Amino acid sequence: MAVREVHLLHDGYLELDMGMLVYMKTPYYGIKYQAALKPLLVVTGSENILVDTGIAPLPQSLSKFVKYTKDTDIIQSLAGYGLVPDDISLVVNTHMHMDHCGNNRLFRKARYFVQRDELAYSANPDRFMRGGYVREFYQDLHFETVDGRHNLTNGVELMDTPGHTPGHQSVILQVGETKVVYTGDAAPLLENIERRDITGIVYDPVSELRSIDRLRAEGGSVIASHDLLQMSFDLKVP
Ligand SMILES: [Zn+2]
Repeated sequence: MAVREVHLLHDGYLELDMGMLVYMKTPYYGIKYQAALKPLLVVTGSENILVDTGIAPLPQSLSKFVKYTKDTDIIQSLAGYGLVPDDISLVVNTHMHMDHCGNNRLFRKARYFVQRDELAYSANPDRFMRGGYVREFYQDLHFETVDGRHNLTNGVELMDTPGHTPGHQSVILQVGETKVVYTGDAAPLLENIERRDITGIVYDPVSELRSIDRLRAEGGSVIASHDLLQMSFDLKVP
């Protein structure tokens, strides 16, 4: 059944250096940014879908270096729409970084979807990418994998957008007459899309730029994963 409602949720903020958000933009180096964690709720006639799940308490080895704060969390945020975790039937992870799959296990009744390449990479990331992945968040969960573009359900399409990570994906929604593009970390900020400036944390800069261009070609309303300029998005089909 078609998409009826789309809402941005909130799971607090992750402190990042702005240099991690835009590649080689030196004026951004050393500037702290409270990156918003914004999972997306998609309600269809038959499924309650969550795209990304925010962050959860980190292992001690990481908590010294990675700072996050929560003024609200994904559970409270879902409750605002009358939902509890067990109401979520599908979880889509754009990728397996800690701020995107941290709360996966709260959604015990959900099926989890990720790109096959991302799941494979998350089991054994290269040394320079290892800091983003927290195995405790996903290692014993069962994921269903997809390859490339994949129609998840009516009006909800997964689109492979590699670059930030090897198997990153974005989500393209058709909500009534409106197309919505949830970029994930292919574009943590709107300026990544608007200026074709790739993100600062990159596995492969060339494929990241191609992914940004493919997202730009989609058109529609763009939701960037961490941008503070865009803290709410609500759409309801009448
Ligand atoms: Zn992120």
